[in-house]
Amino acid sequence: MEAFAIARVQLSFASITATPTGPERFATAFYTALWSETSGTRELFPAGMENMRQRFTTAVGWAVDKLTDVDGLDAFLGQLARDHRKYGVRPEHFRAAGHALLVAVRECTPLILWTAALERTWAEVISHFTETMAVAAAEDDLPAAWGATVVGHERVLADLAIIRLETDTPIPYHAGQYMSVQIPQRPQMWRYLSAAIPPNPQGQIEFHVRRVSTGWVSGGLVSEVVVGDRWTIGPPLGGLQVDQDSGQDVLMIASGTGLAPLRAQIMEMAMRGTNPRTHLFYGGNYPCDLYDLETLWQIAMTNPWLTITPVTEELENPYWHPVPLRETPRGLQEPIQGKLGKVVASFGSWSDHQIQIAGSPSMIRTTLYALSAGGTPRQNISFDPL
Ligand SMILES: Cc1cc2nc3c(=O)[nH]c(=O)nc-3n(C[C@H](O)[C@H](O)[C@H](O)COP(=O)(O)OP(=O)(O)OC[C@H]3O[C@@H](n4cnc5c(N)ncnc54)[C@H](O)[C@@H]3O)c2cc1C
Repeated sequence: MEAFAIARVQLSFASITATPTGPERFATAFYTALWSETSGTRELFPAGMENMRQRFTTAVGWAVDKLTDVDGLDAFLGQLARDHRKYGVRPEHFRAAGHALLVAVRECTPLILWTAALERTWAEVISHFTETMAVAAAEDDLPAAWGATVVGHERVLADLAIIRLETDTPIPYHAGQYMSVQIPQRPQMWRYLSAAIPPNPQGQIEFHVRRVSTGWVSGGLVSEVVVGDRWTIGPPLGGLQVDQDSGQDVLMIASGTGLAPLRAQIMEMAMRGTNPRTHLFYGGNYPCDLYDLETLWQIAMTNPWLTITPVTEELENPYWHPVPLRETPRGLQEPIQGKLGKVVASFGSWSDHQIQIAGSPSMIRTTLYALSAGGTPRQNISFDPL
């Protein structure tokens, strides 16, 4: 597709999501069209659609952004299609969704931008999305989802838990990937979580979960999950990965449980003989938010290619946190006080590094902004869909 046509589609999508209510309105128009035009599709979705609507608009935005990178786009669409198999979605549903998507785009693009040429371009783009997804889903020979049993649940902070599971059969993921999970306490409410350890033949997997105060599922994950619970886990997604052959050093930036996908990769790298030099900035509000610093310190002590820089906005724990501060082991970096993105950017341009960012959507946005302002090119930076 021509660069001009891609720019036209991207501009019209930006106009749809530019207002505070735009993303919600767009997703509502899509689901209304889908459910009214294709019988049996409503039952595929949970009763509460807030999270699905948000995720739908995010996924379309991500795909539209990737139109200039066809390989990256097709990889993303393929993963998304395989992930949808767990809902019972069949290849013909993707074609029906394509029609509903065109209805939603037409309904939500400002009239002044909508032309016959734009409609044709959108139809072409959507047809590529749906055909790629239908083929990927049809060709997938892996299970649609995996069963897993909770074998450990540890509350490491009041609002953060480390949950360990054993899957019935190993999930073929790579370190850095995430997957959707469904827990018995919140049926049909799938949420994405990143694996915090690399895969192993025993099917052991670990997730780190922080409660989001306005959320439906994270509270249950932190305080209601018990050993013995049976979970359903969707197929692996995402492309965070260290390129061992690029010759570039690695910069990793994590806040909160965003540490999980980076930690899994660091653990996997620690099993190799040689690695690119890797600098992890690990941030939080208080020192106690860096709940896994001890593990990282231990890895760094025996792996000279790894540097860990703790960054916190406050240097003391809050009065209500019972555990005293641990001193930084000799030879490791002392914590730096400040906002994570600004601290990383204060080291200058990271243009010669491959960079991964993981954390909350707002942390990722502010860190991207700080790095770009400091001269780091956007194409060096990878992060999961927000
Ligand atoms: C690719 C990916 C990987 C993820 N990996 C992890 C992980 O390893 N560990 C983990 O704890 N969470 C992870 N999340 C977030 C997770 O999927 C849930 O969104 C989160 O647990 C909140 O779920 P909830 O049902 O309580 O809230 P939701 O109902 O999902 O969301 C409620 C509100 O909180 C906002 N929100 C969601 N997450 C955050 C956040 N981190 N900070 C601030 N606001 C937020 C949402 O935008 C929404 O407005 C990941 C998300 C994505 C997209």
